[in-house]
Amino acid sequence: MPDRSFLAWPFFEPRHRELADELRQWCADNLAGRFAEDLDSECRMLVRELGAAGFLKLCVADGETRPDVRSLALARETLAYHSPLADFAFAMQGLGSGAISLFGTIEQKREWLPQVASGQAIAAFAMTEPECGSDAANMQTSAMRDGNQWVLVGEKSYISNGGIADFYLTFARTGEGEGARGLSAFIVPANAEGLSIAERIEVIAPHPLARVAYDNVRIPADAIVGEPGEGFRIGMETLNLFRVTVGAAALGFARRAFDEALSFARERRLGNATLADNAVTQAKLADMALLIDASALLIYRAAWQQDEGGVDNRRAAAMAKLHATEAASKVIDAAVQMHGGAGVTRGVKVEELYRDVRALRIYEGASEVQRQIIARDLLKGKAP
Ligand SMILES: Cc1cc2nc3c(=O)[nH]c(=O)nc-3n(C[C@H](O)[C@H](O)[C@H](O)COP(=O)(O)OP(=O)(O)OC[C@H]3O[C@@H](n4cnc5c(N)ncnc54)[C@H](O)[C@@H]3O)c2cc1C
Repeated sequence: MPDRSFLAWPFFEPRHRELADELRQWCADNLAGRFAEDLDSECRMLVRELGAAGFLKLCVADGETRPDVRSLALARETLAYHSPLADFAFAMQGLGSGAISLFGTIEQKREWLPQVASGQAIAAFAMTEPECGSDAANMQTSAMRDGNQWVLVGEKSYISNGGIADFYLTFARTGEGEGARGLSAFIVPANAEGLSIAERIEVIAPHPLARVAYDNVRIPADAIVGEPGEGFRIGMETLNLFRVTVGAAALGFARRAFDEALSFARERRLGNATLADNAVTQAKLADMALLIDASALLIYRAAWQQDEGGVDNRRAAAMAKLHATEAASKVIDAAVQMHGGAGVTRGVKVEELYRDVRALRIYEGASEVQRQIIARDLLKGKAP
């Protein structure tokens, strides 16, 4: 049973506590003991089920109201605790449609957001390219205007939901200026002629992931999100909205690893006592609990700041993502160590978590990039 005491913190309102309880019950009823025979079908099913249960509404704007970051973070923490794949399915609906929520026209919102919220349309966020990841301002995929259409040419890599998405929120160079000043964002339906999956990519924590090719993909002029040249800002603001929630997913993994370690230590015999009676184990558990609590405080502070508005919380969000993802890796590593041989045995929960947590320190801004955001902010002399 995960620790729920943090829900009493002043960052939350009654609706957040209700959401956490409702989702925890849904996870217990729907995710326990679930086994994915086919990853693509399982992800599609999870999206549909999360949509039918009403949880995907949290991922999209409600009219002019932006998604509530505390709700997103609580949802991701809870889902990640129970099922990394369910967290993935949830998170990508938000990230893939985030640009439409934040910058879309009324027509774009009307067409896509209800489908994303109901789970009828699966979303993907296509920014990274084979030659360009962290340095997104240098992307090379191009979009040229041709009459009342845009024509996209290029390739995107490591695209989550690649292969099962119904649309790819794609960033491309439109040339209004150099580097970051010459990019735009587009809604590209998966069935657009010329769009294809060039390669499915297998990773240590399996989920649908692909290299996507754009071979003269034609989309209507009104498929652009925001103004030409605004793509970089749109991409960064979308990532900023969801940055804290990556930390929240890591927190969910860490809490689960801690609970697994605690119950293992209580049961496992070591000589005449249990592992939990051992002072070294106790010190480890204390360190793990400390890392988890610090992550939770950073995450929900940053989420609360973001929801309250009026504060530039980029530093707090970067700190939350950086600390929570790094701390979760340490907690999970300690849990694996405590399990001994069982910890590296396939199918044991902490072994899965060990693989699940790794990519979080790389995507949506690697740890080094988060440190850069924090340091630049400090050097500008900004208040916390
Ligand atoms: C599982 C997974 C899912 C993903 N899903 C998506 C998705 O849905 N959509 C999408 O667009 N992309 C996605 N990505 C891509 C991800 O965002 C990139 O992998 C990430 O931005 C890093 O880019 P890169 O892999 O090209 O590494 P590079 O940019 O080449 O960086 C390599 C390493 O260099 C270091 N580094 C980077 N920048 C700095 C710096 N400024 N200072 C010091 N060191 C630095 C970091 O350690 C980094 O890991 C996904 C990646 C993974 C692994």
